[in-house]
Amino acid sequence: MAVILGIESTAHTFGVAVVRNGKILSNVKSSYKTGEGGIIPMDAARHHRENKEKIYSESLLLSGIKEEDIDAIAVSQGPGLAPCLLQGMGFAKELSEKLKRPIVPVNHCIAHLEIGRITGAKDPVMLYASGANTQIIAYASEKFRVFGETLDIGAGNFIDTFARYAGIGFPGGPEIEKLALESGCKLIKLPYKVKGMDIALSGILTNLKQKLESGEYRLQDLAFSLQETVFAMLVEVAERAMAHTEKKELLLGGGVACNKRLQSMCRTMCEERGARLFCPENQFLVDNAGMIAYLGEIMFKSGIKKNPGDVDIKPRERTDDVKVTWR
Ligand code: AMP
Ligand code: MG
Repeated sequence: MAVILGIESTAHTFGVAVVRNGKILSNVKSSYKTGEGGIIPMDAARHHRENKEKIYSESLLLSGIKEEDIDAIAVSQGPGLAPCLLQGMGFAKELSEKLKRPIVPVNHCIAHLEIGRITGAKDPVMLYASGANTQIIAYASEKFRVFGETLDIGAGNFIDTFARYAGIGFPGGPEIEKLALESGCKLIKLPYKVKGMDIALSGILTNLKQKLESGEYRLQDLAFSLQETVFAMLVEVAERAMAHTEKKELLLGGGVACNKRLQSMCRTMCEERGARLFCPENQFLVDNAGMIAYLGEIMFKSGIKKNPGDVDIKPRERTDDVKVTWR
């Protein structure tokens, strides 16, 4: 029996969760939002600092677990924005010292993949499309390998930047999805940028901005065309990774995967190749501490325990840098 506290703070979200034996007892978060403009890292960090105690107390209360029953503190160590990561890591170290419990440092991207186990996914290819990250990840030869990724910006940042340009605040994804539904399926031709297994989004962003500026297109139609084009690119590379690895499961992760149109395109692709689609509920798709505690428990049970002095943030840690000893 193990009780693990998880802390997430890589970007806009500060979250605390409690997991006991693979069961998520609480998953509480507060997300930094803006009326207009994108994330300012120092402001997001301030949001985390101001909310951490409250989120921690709420999460503990909801879980019904007492502080002294926590066996270890799992924390998202990277990748992410350094000022934000420092808030989570600092808090984890404080708790570790106070409670005399070890720290389990967790890679955020791998946590998105491993939380897929609660949906039944065993050995999936993951399409991970979040704000800052967009990768196709699968486990092969003792590592989580990146089969394809964005060459420039993450799919969420891409959508948010276009939305911001169109006068929509952060996060822009849900609003773009709504606008797309009002389009009446009017497809405007946009550049389609798949390069081998990778995708590139900044050229499409420029093209979309120019089209919006020209005044010749409705925002609804641009939103619709953005989704159709960019999601097709994501599905194409995910499918190629499935073909190459001969895996029969596709798992979705990241906030962009909340998008119903992306989910439906993935479902169609999986049906056509006799594969299964796994999509965690939204609270586990977006950044959350539940997945950190969940993977933290698996790692803790495999023997990974660190002293506070031996862990630090890793803002640029890559998925394939992590030595996987728990699979
Ligand atoms: P994450 O970084 O994983 O927490 O995801 C946040 C990103 O997901 C932001 O860029 C959001 O704009 C994006 N997002 C959230 N909901 C949707 C949606 N329904 N459609 C597209 N993108 C979304
Ligand atoms: Mg994420």
